[in-house]
Amino acid sequence: MIIATPSIIPATLDAEGREQVLAPGYVQTEGGTIIDVGLGAPPRRPDVELATGHLVPGFVDLQVNGYFGVELGDAEPDGWVAVARRLPETGATAFLPTFITSPVEVTAAALRAASQFAPGLAAGPGARVLGVHLEGPFIAASRRGAHNRDWIIAPDEKTIDMLLAAGPGLVRVVTLAPEVAGGMAAIEQLTAAGVQVSVGHSDATAEQVAAAAAAGARLVTHLFNGQRPLHHREPGVVGQALTDTRLSSGLIADMYHVVPPVAALAFRAAPGRIFLVTDAAASAGMAEGRYVLGGEPIEVAGKAGAPPVRADGTLAGSALRMDLAVANMVAAGIELPDAIAAATRIPADVIGRPELGRIAQGAAADLVWLNDDLAADATWVAGRQMHGRSPG
Ligand code: ZN
Repeated sequence: MIIATPSIIPATLDAEGREQVLAPGYVQTEGGTIIDVGLGAPPRRPDVELATGHLVPGFVDLQVNGYFGVELGDAEPDGWVAVARRLPETGATAFLPTFITSPVEVTAAALRAASQFAPGLAAGPGARVLGVHLEGPFIAASRRGAHNRDWIIAPDEKTIDMLLAAGPGLVRVVTLAPEVAGGMAAIEQLTAAGVQVSVGHSDATAEQVAAAAAAGARLVTHLFNGQRPLHHREPGVVGQALTDTRLSSGLIADMYHVVPPVAALAFRAAPGRIFLVTDAAASAGMAEGRYVLGGEPIEVAGKAGAPPVRADGTLAGSALRMDLAVANMVAAGIELPDAIAAATRIPADVIGRPELGRIAQGAAADLVWLNDDLAADATWVAGRQMHGRSPG
């Protein structure tokens, strides 16, 4: 298949390290892989000719609790299939189902269940399941946000072994608080097992976050939310995340969790180290109403795209879409190619999947056609159209 378009934003860097733009450009795919990308006219008549908008890599979302009424932590195969089939509507072509804090036996049971069917969803036909992100239970009660206090525990070697064995090879990211008892040893154990450790729901000082990075942590979960903020004499999790070049941070760019000037500040302070996440709750993509997230009742009300809240007013995940996250960053003053990279190449790279998140020879043919309003009008996974009207 050859797609010709007025603009390709490939999320690749030129020789000077700048984000590239091919305008106009073309992409050729074969067998689910990109075999050619070029500037100007395609070598033969294209199969698909886009008249407007931009062709960009499929979005990679490293934090999805649920969507379309499905709680991914319940690990029901039909629910996972339904979410994977519909996420391409939002431009996402790969995601990490995320389990928030539950009783550890419940999490282990969910991992055992998911290990039976998750590998079958790794290559499509819907959005690719990249593994599982465990957000908790090794977090700080003081920064727990919507997590249930009763189920937070301190990490130990045996519990970590038990969780990793429950879903062999399934756990890709663990969000934990490095300052809790056993936190640093947990980082070393998880890193040695090939799991990415993300500092989150944490009251760590900057010094403690630096020690976490030295122990192997490379990520920070939803920068600004659920963590010690930046203070001019104690930089906290936020200050260390922005200034320590070992660390990349997720950002919930719904503009409720973080307001636009602060979201833009993060991009400017940590260029190439911010990736966009939805942190979507099960109520994302759903109408107003009451839902249950992590055993807690939450309410979705008010404006479309507004996050669900708990009874005490705490934000309980988001109702964000990845295409809207990109558009929000552009509205906040970030260049479109930088916003695209934060939704594609950067998250793919931080979890060691360089064949995803870019339009380049040899990469997966996961593509999104963004219209001039930056909404996903068509989405392909492995070269197969999974969403949108016929763009031809
Ligand atoms: Zn969280």
